[in-house]
Amino acid sequence: MGMRTHYEILEVTCSATQEEIRRAFRKKLLCYHPDKTLSYENNEFCEIQAAWNVLKNVELRRSYNESLHLKEAVIYEEIQVSDMESVLVDEYSTSLTYKCRCSGEFQLENLESELLQSGQVKNIVISCNHCSSCIQVSL
Ligand SMILES: [Zn+2]
Repeated sequence: MGMRTHYEILEVTCSATQEEIRRAFRKKLLCYHPDKTLSYENNEFCEIQAAWNVLKNVELRRSYNESLHLKEAVIYEEIQVSDMESVLVDEYSTSLTYKCRCSGEFQLENLESELLQSGQVKNIVISCNHCSSCIQVSL
């Protein structure tokens, strides 16, 4: 089964306003809430909830938009978070990186890492900071 985007799930366009997304979510919720449907389409309900959790948050939505955009790029490798190297950014934080075939590297932002850890997204596509290669990272 092909993955539907969060926008397709809520039936809004990518350029929908936060208000339009909120309204679409509420409408969907009324149709699919497990308490209200006899056919118990729980999976659909979970998808709607997951889509809403990302799209309601402006930061998460932007990050998600980027990953959608990058999906069209050529993915040269599929890796897992555990394949990545933890690099000290400053005294307090680390960043996950992965070496590219070129001299560049792929960097997983903290926000993207959190999205993966929380299960809100199954994978994230990131691009090399030096060339146009992309990799797909999953948990
Ligand atoms: Zn590269």
